[in-house]
Amino acid sequence: MPFRDNIIRVQAPAHKTERSLKFCIDFLLPVGTPVVAACSGTVIACQDRYKRSYKDPKFAVRRNFVVINHNNGESSVYVHLRYRSIRVKKGQKVKQGQVIALSGRVGFATYPHLHFGVYRGEYQKGGVSVQIAFNKEIGPERPLHLAEALGKYL
Ligand SMILES: [Zn+2]
Repeated sequence: MPFRDNIIRVQAPAHKTERSLKFCIDFLLPVGTPVVAACSGTVIACQDRYKRSYKDPKFAVRRNFVVINHNNGESSVYVHLRYRSIRVKKGQKVKQGQVIALSGRVGFATYPHLHFGVYRGEYQKGGVSVQIAFNKEIGPERPLHLAEALGKYL
């Protein structure tokens, strides 16, 4: 899991249609929830320079994120992180469960959430979005409007 407590798993329509996001999952999380490395590995990219959220997908690049390379040829990505919350650096080794940042709603995010994806190969270098196997049960997917409504209170 990319964090300690599973809140609500959200259905994001873009994930179904966009091949590069196909198996990514959005978790509705209160801003400031610790985000942890889902598996051990090495941080290969970080971006922590944006502060706000946007309703227009054209600002999707204005996001804060961490990418971790794992030893099995896969990488994981954690997106929409809170400004100045990233606690790791490129090249740093991280252990499974280690806090890497805090969740936020930065970038193209109409509600506070963590966008989490696993890629075969390197994310940003032709990696392919793959189905994520969790070691504990995760709740059913909920519709986006629920996340947007609840997001006001998070
Ligand atoms: Zn997402």
